[in-house]
Amino acid sequence: MQQLFLPRYTIGKDALDSMKPIIEPYGKRVVLIYGEKAWKAAGDKVLAALKGFDISGMIMYGKEASWDNINKLVADETVRQADVLIGIGGGKCLDVVKTAGDQLKKPVFTVATIASTCASVTKISIIHNNDGSFKEVFRLKEPPVHCFIDTEIIFRAPRQYFWAGMGDTMAKHIECVFSAKNDVLDFASEYGRTISSLCYYPMIEKGAAAYNSIIKGEYSEDVEEIILSIIVATGSVSLAVNPDYNSAVAHALYYGLTVREWMERKHLHGEIVSYGTLIQLIVDKQWDKLKQTYEFNKSVGLPVCLKDLDLTMDDPLDDVLDATVINPELYHVPYKVTKEMLREAIDYLEDYKG
Ligand SMILES: [Zn+2]
Repeated sequence: MQQLFLPRYTIGKDALDSMKPIIEPYGKRVVLIYGEKAWKAAGDKVLAALKGFDISGMIMYGKEASWDNINKLVADETVRQADVLIGIGGGKCLDVVKTAGDQLKKPVFTVATIASTCASVTKISIIHNNDGSFKEVFRLKEPPVHCFIDTEIIFRAPRQYFWAGMGDTMAKHIECVFSAKNDVLDFASEYGRTISSLCYYPMIEKGAAAYNSIIKGEYSEDVEEIILSIIVATGSVSLAVNPDYNSAVAHALYYGLTVREWMERKHLHGEIVSYGTLIQLIVDKQWDKLKQTYEFNKSVGLPVCLKDLDLTMDDPLDDVLDATVINPELYHVPYKVTKEMLREAIDYLEDYKG
């Protein structure tokens, strides 16, 4: 059996106007579950869009995408009685709402309030422990029914999420193509790999312009296109490809680097991953892509050397590289990626000038 789920979305500054007609067929009794900052940014607009619905609960999900927070929702009577769960927030909040909906077999709708990951459209949840450390990737039966992307809300969100989101999104294409290199793909994986181009080329072309327009506070069409890359293109790849093709060196190195426990306090996920993308391109001798990606990273201030991640050349990085080469993201790659190859690539990048 082969199955393919694809993201459904509405995007635009009036995207929330489509909530009513799209959600209504699933029921009128809704529960809103949100992050604190997300609610400040989007609450008024969401409430206005849901006029006429029976909002039976309004719940702040907590701070962490943990089983404790998921189980709290699953046990909550208003959530259990609701026809529909609506998650409003960033990746952590939406992963909590998605998982609660999965457990209760209730339809979930998402309102993405930042563009940083594809969590608002995928059917996996990244679960953390209460202390914020990574616990597991939980697979859901279905993705959210529909995602509402209000470009005005995302445009005003803290810009570092968009910035790091661009780095994470570009990695999707580079890693997917690399890990699927020598395989014969089924339709769904081929579909995902083909769509992964939309994670990379629009970024090279318009990513910097979009980011600059956010910095300047002047909205441009480029912003919408890059939001679609970050959320919908990446989410499509995640939903379509065999999980083997979701990640490779860039994410393995990210997990390796996070053995330095300060790393994630000082740097965002997509920021760290974007350094790993450059390393993977060097390991795989993709010189044209390396040049394009390096120049992009430089133009927006994403990492291009160890110093950008608060590391130094004389650091042997043994702990980091040991953790990288045993990371599951490297179980399925076209050839064995060794510690020596990674170290060589890191040294190469230090001297690289584009
Ligand atoms: Zn990532």
